[in-house]
Amino acid sequence: MTESKARQPIPYPVPTSSGVTAVMRGNRRSNTRPELAVRSALHSRGYRYRVDHLIALEALRVRPDIVFTRQKIAIFLDGCFWHCCPEHGNRPRRNTRYWTAKLERNVARDKRVTSALIAAGWEVIRIWEHVPAPDAVAEIEAVLQQRGALERA
Ligand SMILES: [Zn+2]
Repeated sequence: MTESKARQPIPYPVPTSSGVTAVMRGNRRSNTRPELAVRSALHSRGYRYRVDHLIALEALRVRPDIVFTRQKIAIFLDGCFWHCCPEHGNRPRRNTRYWTAKLERNVARDKRVTSALIAAGWEVIRIWEHVPAPDAVAEIEAVLQQRGALERA
């Protein structure tokens, strides 16, 4: 009876074509170009926020892409591929089972994170990476204004 066999993680699939490799490379998380564009636009408008700020809740720990600690606003700039955007969240045709499971786990975690933050009094903003930076900034600014005092320098 080998228990270790059953515990083996699903192996990361070897990309089956250069096309898939390009998709995966293009969707790497953290400090993507849209994320940087939104951050620098907010910064140049005078907003001061936290990056890589850990929010430790009872149920989970999470590092939103942008955090306004005083106003309790957590912002996620969700990659279209990893978070299954309805417009661009195409699943790779190869290794479908692996990707379907992985992406569904991401979406389920997003939902858990959002509801845990809301339950803890946070305002959660999720913006797709395909949203142009000025629109993303306008959306964030509107929520900042609703939440009162601006965290402006
Ligand atoms: Zn998209």
